[in-house]
Amino acid sequence: MDRYSVFALAREAIRNHRGWNRAWESPAPDRHYDVIVVGAGGHGLATAYYLGKNHGITNVAILEKGWLGGGNTGRNTTIIRSNYLQDASAAIYEKSRSLYETLSQDLNYNVMFSPRGLLNLAQTHHEVRGYRRIMSANGLQGVATSYLEPDAVRKLCPVMNLNGPRYPVLGALWQPRAGTARHDAVAWALARGCSAMGMHIIETCPVIGIRSADGAVSGVETTKGLIGCNKLALVAAGHSGTLAEMAGFRLPIESVALQALVSEPVKPCLDVVVMANTVHGYISQSDKGEMVIGGGADQYVNYTQRGSFQHIEETVRALIEMFPFLSNLTMLRQWGGIVDMTGDRSPILSKTPVDNIFVNCGWGTGGFKAIPGSGWAMSELVAKGEPGTLAAPFSLNRFREGMYVDENLAAGVAH
Ligand SMILES: Cc1cc2nc3c(=O)[nH]c(=O)nc-3n(C[C@H](O)[C@H](O)[C@H](O)COP(=O)(O)OP(=O)(O)OC[C@H]3O[C@@H](n4cnc5c(N)ncnc54)[C@H](O)[C@@H]3O)c2cc1C
Repeated sequence: MDRYSVFALAREAIRNHRGWNRAWESPAPDRHYDVIVVGAGGHGLATAYYLGKNHGITNVAILEKGWLGGGNTGRNTTIIRSNYLQDASAAIYEKSRSLYETLSQDLNYNVMFSPRGLLNLAQTHHEVRGYRRIMSANGLQGVATSYLEPDAVRKLCPVMNLNGPRYPVLGALWQPRAGTARHDAVAWALARGCSAMGMHIIETCPVIGIRSADGAVSGVETTKGLIGCNKLALVAAGHSGTLAEMAGFRLPIESVALQALVSEPVKPCLDVVVMANTVHGYISQSDKGEMVIGGGADQYVNYTQRGSFQHIEETVRALIEMFPFLSNLTMLRQWGGIVDMTGDRSPILSKTPVDNIFVNCGWGTGGFKAIPGSGWAMSELVAKGEPGTLAAPFSLNRFREGMYVDENLAAGVAH
């Protein structure tokens, strides 16, 4: 693997950049692996990466039906934060956020982590109480957040109109080390790390069947043939339900489309992330200058990866109340991804009814931020066959036992 550095960049500049090696290999599949991970999104790649890095398991294949990072990982709006309510959530999301702090150095790849700070706006008295409560919980959990009054919000985000026509801004929950990162780069960096450890990333290789014998997994059927494995990790977001069905069990998730859009680029004017649950929209400015805008998920189960006019209208209308300048901008692109929603808005990292099949899903509308932490926890579950402290609260059993990790308020406008 090339080591990326300023010296390597200078050397390649002299050679007209002809000497770079491929960032990851594209091998043909072997007949058998110790572990197969289904899904080369961020969570699948992070699971594989930490299997190698933390547990020394490198005979691993990551099978991807499309292209690497082409699912939700390459379609999200890249918000990273850890200001959730429950202790179990704060633990895994803060682990993840802290791994993001040094991910570029760890992977020798610039993932453009930008801890620019995030405002969750309180626009009703209910939200004021809710965010104050989260701030208190975060204080006990070791997550640095504070509650800001409107004047402080105005100082952080002068471009925002705090006296909107319907819902004035009454305050905000502020997480100063929350922010964004480049989504593709996270997938590419992890893929490069996996490939460097000798793992096989096999794209355009959908899993179409799952084989088991005596209640334990034995391999997967793919369009490139049958591939055997000792352990199988299903990490396929909105398609997890389909894969579980192939293995003979059901998951308590619903797959729905979540949409986003970006405007034409403008000069830097917004250097924090703003989320507004009540009007139902959120916004940040990308390094290129585009306004990155999103809102709520579709209200019906579907597998479309497209945008809809209704969503543009609803989300832009909501945000214009606080950012009137948006009405002058042309929107450039809109898209959708298929997200996997659980009833308590928390993920599933769990053993399953089939021995040695593990599942990592249910991140719903907010799993980009969780990629490194989820990979860390999932790799431990797969390597040891039992969850560690990070993953334990997120087992499938919680739905049977009523031990929900309720994040309906903190999940808010989705991310
Ligand atoms: C519009 C939008 C905005 C979002 N914004 C944010 C945000 O701001 N912050 C945040 O934290 N999260 C956000 N999210 C959520 C986040 O993107 C996801 O939770 C996260 O990317 C999930 O990653 P993943 O690796 O589990 O799934 P994915 O990236 O979807 O990867 C799963 C992979 O599995 C593959 N696959 C499926 N079936 C098969 C099969 N049978 N065989 C082989 N491969 C298969 C798919 O092709 C896909 O590549 C957003 C999502 C969307 C759609």
